[in-house]
Amino acid sequence: MDNKYENKINSAKLPFGRISVLLPIPVYKHYDYLNEELSLHIGDFVEVPFRKRCLPALVMGVGKGDIVSTKLKPVLSKFDCRALTKEMIDFINWVSAYNMAPAGAILKMVLSAPDALHPPKPVTVFFKVLKKNIQTLRITSSRKRVLDYLSDCKSRTMKDITRNTNVSSAIVKGLHGLGVIGDASVNQKFPSAIAVSKEPIAPILNREQIEAADKLISSVNEETFNVCLIDGVTGSGKTEVYFEAIAAVLPMKRQVLILVPEIALSQPLLDRFEARFGFKPTQWHSDLSNATRRQTWRAVGEGDVAVIIGARSALFLPFLNLGLIVVDEEHEAAFKQTEGVKYQCRDMAVVRARTAQISAVLVSATPSLESLTNFELGRYKRISLRSRYGTAKLPAVHAIDLGKAKLGRGKWIADNLVHEISETLKRGEQVILFLNRRGYAPLNLCRSCGHKLECPNCSAWLVEHKAKSRLQCHHCDYTIRFDPNCIKCGGTDTLASIGPGVERLEEEVRSRFPTASVLVASSDTLSGPLLLKKFIDAVKEVKVDIIIGTQVIAKGHHFPLVTCVGVIDADLGMAGGDLRAGERTYQLLHQVAGRAGRETRPGRVWIQTLQPEHPLIRALIDWDRDGFLQEEKNGRVEAGMPPFGKLAALIISSKDESLVDDLARLIAASAPFSLDLQILGPAPAPIAVLRGRHRRRFLLKGSKSINMQKIIKVWLQNIRIPSKAKLEIDIDPYNFM
Ligand SMILES: [Zn+2]
Ligand SMILES: [Zn+2]
Repeated sequence: MDNKYENKINSAKLPFGRISVLLPIPVYKHYDYLNEELSLHIGDFVEVPFRKRCLPALVMGVGKGDIVSTKLKPVLSKFDCRALTKEMIDFINWVSAYNMAPAGAILKMVLSAPDALHPPKPVTVFFKVLKKNIQTLRITSSRKRVLDYLSDCKSRTMKDITRNTNVSSAIVKGLHGLGVIGDASVNQKFPSAIAVSKEPIAPILNREQIEAADKLISSVNEETFNVCLIDGVTGSGKTEVYFEAIAAVLPMKRQVLILVPEIALSQPLLDRFEARFGFKPTQWHSDLSNATRRQTWRAVGEGDVAVIIGARSALFLPFLNLGLIVVDEEHEAAFKQTEGVKYQCRDMAVVRARTAQISAVLVSATPSLESLTNFELGRYKRISLRSRYGTAKLPAVHAIDLGKAKLGRGKWIADNLVHEISETLKRGEQVILFLNRRGYAPLNLCRSCGHKLECPNCSAWLVEHKAKSRLQCHHCDYTIRFDPNCIKCGGTDTLASIGPGVERLEEEVRSRFPTASVLVASSDTLSGPLLLKKFIDAVKEVKVDIIIGTQVIAKGHHFPLVTCVGVIDADLGMAGGDLRAGERTYQLLHQVAGRAGRETRPGRVWIQTLQPEHPLIRALIDWDRDGFLQEEKNGRVEAGMPPFGKLAALIISSKDESLVDDLARLIAASAPFSLDLQILGPAPAPIAVLRGRHRRRFLLKGSKSINMQKIIKVWLQNIRIPSKAKLEIDIDPYNFM
């Protein structure tokens, strides 16, 4: 691997004197420092003094600044770690320029485990001294356990020995003092790249999958930049197909990155990976311990990690020798980072593949319009999988017209669906009821004075969580205890819950099916991989009859006995001014429907809606995905919306409302004019107050041919943002709140 690495870094040594570095702080510019003794290359990490701190910094080249050399501060030291590759530095610059975010902020995302710049501290290991005569030694049972444990001549840490032999460290130290066991200091090594834990199981692929895998592997073998979209119906075995591409890359000693929308939901994928390859992929997510983060970051940089699976942030790991990027569920909105540096991870993954000149594989049963358009324009290849794996057929989908169904007070399930559920339970099969709303009720209202309980920090209602007897804001997590008395009019017990969440639906299900075992699956009940695994096992072992779930149950799961899926409120996601609302609702309901009848038993799906004739509902009933997408595409072409036009948002916010309005007016006054560009706003954002900050938005809508970034840059270059206000730029926004 080292030969290739030499080609990937900038091996020319920089001359002594002025060097230019990028700091992990939110600024665009580089800073100059003086280096008079260190051997430095572009991509090296150094430590420099900055204001009153010491910061790590990335060496970018020879300094060009205009500060006189005598005023420059010196580089303090060079970190003992691999230099960043040229392609990674290109990537940082590209992400910064495209998303209009400071390069230093991108570097901060790369340095997601700053401690990893230091080499790991050596550890002491113990081993059995073979030549030592132990005839005279008194062998107690504890001592015997230790000596037996070390009899395979391997070195082990004190922790390993004490834990595995159940002795105290004093016993080990005693043996060490007698010279029976020796010690040594070694550098810690990350668990080796491919530590086989189980016998890998070669997959049995059907004909369509074999052809797809062959196509994909030949793309990967081109060893140049290309993008393949695996577009396969739910249950067609897309994962097995891209696993074959991974299997082709691993022997080349190149690294693989699998990006998933949410790591907490990827347990089924992790299990399938381990079954196929016999080892666990290395995970990267925000819940890792500091030690694991540090080790993993460094090991990725050393090329010691073969396969990383992670959410967005994994894209910014310092891969030494990346060979393939897979973006699973590429259509998921969760790939768009909406806080801090705003970027679309799927799109940036394609950029990362281009800087490394490798393949990117995008995978979905309901590809985004963006990716399909890129295929139509000839930029991406498409590999289609049209048949469900094995004998499973697509489930039959029916609409239930909520306008005609007479639902009782506080009831949310129509009679036909109730009937269908009981029939399913009689057959010993399982039911999923889908309602994409956490908690008990989205709103609490006083029946006496009409007061609505709102979050004091956001323009949003407080959501009732009855199980915890709390009201909670889903935007800022503001939480209060539930009190049935009205704080406004003083009415006693006047608060009424309006509308259903999964908890409230559970009440109805339990009262209608008292003997059935019911489980609620939402991010509140399944927080963390362990709970999720317990849930999956319970469903698979048929300990549950009815699953009530939010979107956490929509994807990836393979539950053979689920044959009935009920969508409680299909209209929930369709409203609102979001240009992707329809696309997203279709994708979600399509995925939910795909949970029914995944093996031999036929599945049925019931969709409750007030708009049974809506094209989106019709497309779900007819499994006419392409028809839906065509309609969606026509609408976007006509409106000049992405991917057939460009969008950007400017969001101005401050705790001081008049400051926000003044700044918005100032920015509006210097707005650029162009026939190809429409500027909407400034207008109060739909969530006008968020976490105590007042917000105003501009939306820029332009044709494909304009350079949106350049226009915004020129527009804003002379505007000074007061320190009490914030201006955020969102290129290609997904969130219009
Ligand atoms: Zn009241
Ligand atoms: Zn709030």
